[in-house]
Amino acid sequence: MYKNDFPFFKNSSVTYLDNAATTQKPQAVLNKILEYYTNYCSNTHRSNHGDANKATKEFEETRTILKEFINAKDESEIIFTKGVTESLNMVASIFAKEFKTIIISSIEHHSNITPWHMQNRTLHQGLEVVNIKENLEFDFEHFEELLKANPNSFVSITHVSNAFGVKHNIKKIAKLTHKYNSYLMVDGAQSLAHFEIDVQDLDVDFYAISSHKTYGPTGVGALYVKQELLEKLKTYQTGGATINDVNFQRSLMLSSPYKFEAGTQNIADVIAFKEALKYIKNIGYKTIHTIEEEIYSYLHNELKKIENIILYNNVENSIVSKSFNIKDINSEDIGILLDKMHIAVRAGHHCAQPIMKKLNIDGTIRVSIAFYNTKEDIDIFIKALKKAITMLKD
Ligand code: PMP
Repeated sequence: MYKNDFPFFKNSSVTYLDNAATTQKPQAVLNKILEYYTNYCSNTHRSNHGDANKATKEFEETRTILKEFINAKDESEIIFTKGVTESLNMVASIFAKEFKTIIISSIEHHSNITPWHMQNRTLHQGLEVVNIKENLEFDFEHFEELLKANPNSFVSITHVSNAFGVKHNIKKIAKLTHKYNSYLMVDGAQSLAHFEIDVQDLDVDFYAISSHKTYGPTGVGALYVKQELLEKLKTYQTGGATINDVNFQRSLMLSSPYKFEAGTQNIADVIAFKEALKYIKNIGYKTIHTIEEEIYSYLHNELKKIENIILYNNVENSIVSKSFNIKDINSEDIGILLDKMHIAVRAGHHCAQPIMKKLNIDGTIRVSIAFYNTKEDIDIFIKALKKAITMLKD
């Protein structure tokens, strides 16, 4: 019973099925935050006293563990950020800005759309969008057409859609991207909690990670940058801890990752993030996958039995998130009633309005599971859903 490792479940009576928004945090993560603030609260990479050295060591240990976790080559390839949103914005402004064409897909989160609009790019004016097929799968033929017409581009694609749970074949996307002399950034917000990432095997150039969706604290993320590209990246912000030497004529920057981590970092939360990674490692992705797959197909089968249900993704092409609507009922109305029955799901557009518009809907109800969920959670949810539908029909 993995819920016992998560204090939230001891204190809340909610049936939590909103894991794609954020996951709960295991006790070990919370302990680590408290340990830093109570035992050795100091700044990192600056002072040279015992506690400051301990804080720096703990902070850098997270980098090393994350490096090993995603099979990066070197610690310099791991840059701490606030989350996926900051990582995507950072690459957009320090690297991708120079490219004539940016290629995204039509199933992206707003975080991978709005940074490109901020560069005054619009559809066919510096921004191209790969079709998503009717079954919500990535259209590789269209992708290759776009790359053929726009070689030397910058491609930015989500690994897993937060709105529908559809998982893209990133290895294949990377191969095609590189064939046309382009670069690939991957939005990995929904990945690391559920399956193993090997950045070398995937052959991605940039990979954005979110701690809070991976059982870690909020306000922390990481950006993986392929070693060969580090020298080509401009600095994003500068200031304390990014500098080797400064006079009034010039600033000499440190090397990566430090030149990208300006100012005091989110020390406690970075330190605690490693506990989340260790926790996942202890359980193992194989176990996580087995549990999640079983609950997910159970959920799928139970939903299929509901009258007038519109299911948008099937179990074969997607993981852990199920999006649906009930004919003629507004998804947000169902969400409100489920909330009153202490069920936490997300209803609405899931920060992915363009794909909702493409499907001609305002939003969906999204049930997103984690390995600590159980079939009993699904039973409670289905019972509440049926009740909500009856109430809204009458
Ligand atoms: N991309 C996707 C696919 C997401 O699901 C989210 C979070 N909802 C983000 C980006 C933004 O991530 P973060 O909260 O780490 O900024």
